[in-house]
Amino acid sequence: MTREQCAALDAQDPLAWHRSQFALPPDVIYLDGNSLGALPRATSARENEVIEQQWGDGLIRSWNSAHWVDLPRRVGGKIAQLIGAEPNEVLCADSTSVNLFKVLATALRLQRSSSRKIIVSERANFPTDLYIAEGLIDLLGHGHQLQLVEVDDVLGAIDERTAVVMLTHVNFKTGSMHEMATLTQRAHGAGALVVWDLSHSAGAVPVELNAFGVDFAIGCGYKYLNGGPGAPAFVFVASRHLSAISDDVYAQPLAGWLGHHSPFEFHDCYRPAASIDRYAVGTPSIVALAALEVGVDTVLAAGIEALRAKSVALTQLFIRLIEEQCPELGLQLASPRHAEQRGSQVCLSHPHAFAAMQALIKRGVIGDFRAPDILRFGFAPLYVRYVDVWDAAHALREVLANEEWSEPAFQTRAAVT
Ligand SMILES: *Cc1c(COP(=O)(O)O)cnc(C)c1O
Repeated sequence: MTREQCAALDAQDPLAWHRSQFALPPDVIYLDGNSLGALPRATSARENEVIEQQWGDGLIRSWNSAHWVDLPRRVGGKIAQLIGAEPNEVLCADSTSVNLFKVLATALRLQRSSSRKIIVSERANFPTDLYIAEGLIDLLGHGHQLQLVEVDDVLGAIDERTAVVMLTHVNFKTGSMHEMATLTQRAHGAGALVVWDLSHSAGAVPVELNAFGVDFAIGCGYKYLNGGPGAPAFVFVASRHLSAISDDVYAQPLAGWLGHHSPFEFHDCYRPAASIDRYAVGTPSIVALAALEVGVDTVLAAGIEALRAKSVALTQLFIRLIEEQCPELGLQLASPRHAEQRGSQVCLSHPHAFAAMQALIKRGVIGDFRAPDILRFGFAPLYVRYVDVWDAAHALREVLANEEWSEPAFQTRAAVT
């Protein structure tokens, strides 16, 4: 496979023009859109309007006149289109970690009358998900337990003691993707509820929450949704559960004033909104929500099915090029080889992964490192080109074959990897 053949793939790519919607530096090959999505060109103008006109001139009137108050639902409704949900089931709010706390609390509450005490999850889940579960278990003091199993043992671990199955759809470290339909069905068959974390799925992989009968989901706004650093996250609650908890005041225990049925009546007791609005807590960041809306619009403009098709092509190409160009350089594929079991990233293990990634970044190829030995490459199909894949594989070959990674400057770790 030559670079010219990759350029020919770009020339035929129906999504190629979307790259021009992003303000990417010319000398960078950006393979970290799974960690922080690129900046859409339209974001600066939108932020300027929000700040100068809506905030500067409109002041507090903008909550109504500029529809600030509707933004969490409006952006949630757009994300709903990407994850197979109804618009009234998705809200943008808080961080993924906080949203997980809320929905996990609701799920355990719904199982309260049963003797089920186990939350089944994966040992390799993203740490925040496990920390949040442990913290909630401790707070509740009802003797719940977090049962952590290996990726292939999840299905077998679900039984009549399981209260909730809490999983991340696409694993952050390996890109390995769970079969959401099968696992959800199995959980429901055993009488358990499911919480899916879509942080590495939303905007890259089509998800059908309602088709699979998913109970709860959460996910991140700053990865493939291009919402900017620390963008608000989203939360999905199936409408049947919203109805089921309508009389249970603290089924969502972070009972903040914006989740109230009538926040501006300033009642002295809490009465939750009947809708997904009860998953709001406090005042949302309008500046951040506006940026997230622009990011989500970039994904909607391309269409999630087309994005997935290109993502699969990019990751397949990268695996093929690594195997062609970098044999015997100590790399091992740490992601599933079959595209249907993989999200939009490819991970390779290498004994000098950290230093090798620093050397790649010095060459302008930005991926990231995940401890202990993973080189992680995310292929955001909105703006990554086939030639970028070729150039990245070539750069990795140079870094390893010439031991560029051995430079002392590449050995020191910064606070964020
Ligand atoms: C990125 C990510 C998060 C991020 O959580 P925040 O609270 O938004 O920082 C959570 N879970 C998973 C699986 C992630 O990949």
